Amino acid sequence: MDIVELARTPKKPLPDTVKGKMYKGFWTTRHVVQLGFAALNVVLGIQFWWFVRALEVGNDGPLPPRPAGVEGWLPISGLMGAIDWVARGELNLIHPASVILILCFLAIAFLARKAFCSWVCPIGTISEGLAMLGRKLFGKTFLLPRKLDYSLMSLKYILLGLFLFAFLVMGTAGIASFMNSPYNQLADVKMLLFFTEIGVVGVIVIAVLLIGSVFVEGFWCRYLCPYGAMLGLVSWASPLKIRRNVETCIDCDRCTKACPSRLPVATKLQIISPECTGCLKCESACPIKDCVTLAPSPRTKVSAKQLALIVLGVWLSFVLVAKVAGMWNTKLTDADYRYHFEKRDAPEYGHPG
Ligand code: SF4
Ligand code: SF4
Ligand code: SF4
Repeated sequence: MDIVELARTPKKPLPDTVKGKMYKGFWTTRHVVQLGFAALNVVLGIQFWWFVRALEVGNDGPLPPRPAGVEGWLPISGLMGAIDWVARGELNLIHPASVILILCFLAIAFLARKAFCSWVCPIGTISEGLAMLGRKLFGKTFLLPRKLDYSLMSLKYILLGLFLFAFLVMGTAGIASFMNSPYNQLADVKMLLFFTEIGVVGVIVIAVLLIGSVFVEGFWCRYLCPYGAMLGLVSWASPLKIRRNVETCIDCDRCTKACPSRLPVATKLQIISPECTGCLKCESACPIKDCVTLAPSPRTKVSAKQLALIVLGVWLSFVLVAKVAGMWNTKLTDADYRYHFEKRDAPEYGHPG
């Protein structure tokens, strides 16, 4: 029987030996990693809020330590910094951690699919929690009609394309100028002030995204996030793929139903979609041991714990090497921050467009 015939094998009943049984083990691992990164972001957020609060109070003493990790929330600065680094051969040290972190997350996407989204990103974690809330409230999350769903999914790629087009128009000189602009020097503080001094429009937009994620799983991530779109495109080249063993598959469809990205796992030999986040929910849902696996080749398997080690190992390596190489902390001094903060409402601190 060839592989195509096997793929078309009619549905087989669930063997008695596995009825009601779920092979688990990785679900907990992913949640622990997700919650660990969420907690880290909370700690970084509090530390940074303290730093900005000291700027607002305006004391003359030394500022509290500023956590460089908050620059993970400056993806545009990070991406432009990476382009600038390649173009000039020198890393701009205004927000170097933003560059290191975006390169780290791209490396994770290459090695382990879009695992950043389902293992690391706190917005992905919140989004997953909101979808769980939706299932509790309504017994399910809702699917938009296929055509509308596909049209909306294209938005994040369009947004990514617009960013890349803007970088192209700016050219390397324009990007270098942006990196040193007053706006970029204060970008981290402005990002925090956006949330602490949020206006009505901002509240409405965030509320729509949060409520939308209760009804439609991953509303922001699936339709609008250009960062996720970029990681997904890089993940296309990843050697790790979700693979289905058609010889042991009983065509129960549980893997497809479990997939938060709505990928048709049960009818494919492998999933190469940029929407796959390596969440392993399909593997968790499958009642047949090792029938669905995340693997670099058929009949191999990367377990959840190994995937966690890859994600954490890459992240730690980038951060530690950057720290040792002096590529982690900003070159801006307390005096620089005080100077920029005082002038933050001046026109040159608006987005350079
Ligand atoms: S799609 Fe964007 S917001 Fe969502 S988890 Fe991925 S990077 Fe985070
Ligand atoms: S195919 Fe599997 S690993 Fe990929 S997103 Fe769907 S459930 Fe997660
Ligand atoms: S691979 Fe999917 S369809 Fe096949 S047995 Fe596992 S859950 Fe069922």
